[in-house]
Amino acid sequence: MSIANLARRVVRALTPYQSARRIGGKGHVWLNANEAPLAYPFAIEGNRLNRYPECQPAEVVKGYATYAGVNPDQVLVSRGADEAIELLIRTFCEAGEDQILICPPTYGMYAISAETCGVGIVEQPLTPSRQPDWPAIQDRLSDVKLVFLCSPNNPTGDLVGRKGLIKLLEKAQDRAIIVVDEAYIEFCPEASVVDLLARFPNLVVTRTLSKAFALAGIRCGFTLGDPEVIAMLAKVIAPYPIPDPIAQIASQALSSTGLELMQERVLELNKQKAIIKAELTRLPCVQEIFEDKGNFVLVRFKDGAAVFAAMKAAGIILRDFSSKPGLDNSIRITIGYQGEMDAVLAVLRTLPADGATTSPTASNQPAASV
Ligand SMILES: *Cc1c(COP(=O)(O)O)cnc(C)c1O
Repeated sequence: MSIANLARRVVRALTPYQSARRIGGKGHVWLNANEAPLAYPFAIEGNRLNRYPECQPAEVVKGYATYAGVNPDQVLVSRGADEAIELLIRTFCEAGEDQILICPPTYGMYAISAETCGVGIVEQPLTPSRQPDWPAIQDRLSDVKLVFLCSPNNPTGDLVGRKGLIKLLEKAQDRAIIVVDEAYIEFCPEASVVDLLARFPNLVVTRTLSKAFALAGIRCGFTLGDPEVIAMLAKVIAPYPIPDPIAQIASQALSSTGLELMQERVLELNKQKAIIKAELTRLPCVQEIFEDKGNFVLVRFKDGAAVFAAMKAAGIILRDFSSKPGLDNSIRITIGYQGEMDAVLAVLRTLPADGATTSPTASNQPAASV
């Protein structure tokens, strides 16, 4: 008997999240994980390392509250936004009983966290205009405890419509918690729904330092919500989830200098995004460019597999979404700095409209009948 048979059934059956680092790949241009292209130096004092850290480092909580425009008792710091997603499920969903609702295609960790917690998943796909299907979600409210919406949505880049969200929050009052994942909100800060927290105790917003703040390596995320929701999550989180060096770096990132640097980076990356989008519209191998509210752009190519292979051969690692429903031939490109974007465009310019490298007669031959 394999020792693995001792693991829980759901874990044995689980396909782990295919994180960019797990898939890996050899390349020198990394555009597959929506990371920031450059790292920034931070100073760490090591003289407190013999002590356990604060559970919720006050300076970080206060810094993020000020930045987000909420009170400190509306903020929870966690090991990335990924931990926030799992904490929400563990705090609000009864294993083997409750369900969450997701709107695919969307971020994969909502489903993975639910599965590992033994919590059911209701899928309500995005509409053809890639919005949450509001009436359909409302119809399922009595079946679900948590609704996960992502705005801007990873990987399609769309924002969740504010009117539909407000109506859903009203309908869901006292019944379900609506989570809006704002991992990329710094790239379009005007679209945040944080202001709605004052009106709706059943709204929760998740955030991260991994994207615009260029700190994916420190694993630091935030949950913003009603003080009662935050207090519940704080009962479930590990006793010392944020190592002291991480808290020190996060505090520096949230200082006024840190925020200014982040905003400069966002301006530069949004500029690069506009440039590459304009170039993509002119290329014959491109079929469709999706919305672009984050630091990435999803592109449907005429032959996605050929594009992915050509990029890989050139040492450029992108993220393939072609196996997801409705996203055939679609590849997500993280926006990097100019040199990286130029490298992507140089490869795309070598590709013909249909991406085919063999002659059409050869590939159109019917296979020998069997
Ligand atoms: C990257 C990402 C996260 C995870 O953020 P971490 O803080 O790095 O865990 C959460 N949600 C979405 C939509 C993301 O793209």
